[in-house]
Amino acid sequence: MSTDIASVCLFCGSNVGTRPAYAEAATQFGRALAARGLTLIYGGGSVGLMDIAAQAALDAGGRVVGVITEQLMVREVGHSGLDELHVVATMHERKALMAKLSDAFVALPGGYGTFDELCEMATWDQLGIHSKPLVMMNVEGYFDGFLAQIDRGVADGFLKPAHRTMVEVVSSVEEIFDAIERWQAPPVSKWLTPRPTP
Ligand code: AMP
Repeated sequence: MSTDIASVCLFCGSNVGTRPAYAEAATQFGRALAARGLTLIYGGGSVGLMDIAAQAALDAGGRVVGVITEQLMVREVGHSGLDELHVVATMHERKALMAKLSDAFVALPGGYGTFDELCEMATWDQLGIHSKPLVMMNVEGYFDGFLAQIDRGVADGFLKPAHRTMVEVVSSVEEIFDAIERWQAPPVSKWLTPRPTP
């Protein structure tokens, strides 16, 4: 892994999902980060796939940093064994801090929270707000429908083809790190198409 990647942010479910492959992927990912000496940045929760990944990284001697809101802390779902836990006021602050602390983003299966985080980081890459690798691990085809929607966006002119490849899609944990390495920032200069002059 190149030296400019030190921290990787994980977006994934606050539930474990129905298939054993999801928890397996989260475990392998946590261990793989620790083995590479990379810091895991995540939502700070002690539930779901996110907890499994964080615990696997900690158990393997990795460094884990959580970013959680006061509201989620009050509900006592904050992880108590992390190297650092940032408690912020709002979900917006939380996402901004997670983005600031991270050099790359990885999505594993999840629900609305995961979709939201993945889409917002993709939007920021698209607009050049930041330029950070974004990798989706499509465990057992979980994201097939999501990817089909992105393809429809390209086909119908709402997404540029260059922005389709901005989310690198892989099917194994080992591939995640190669995908982070080969990721290239999309061209942003032609993103905004001005209204034609009358
Ligand atoms: P979801 O995919 O809807 O389960 O939401 C998971 C994503 O939203 C994670 O990547 C977290 O960043 C965030 N999130 C949702 N619920 C929690 C929670 N209880 N604790 C911490 N983060 C959460």
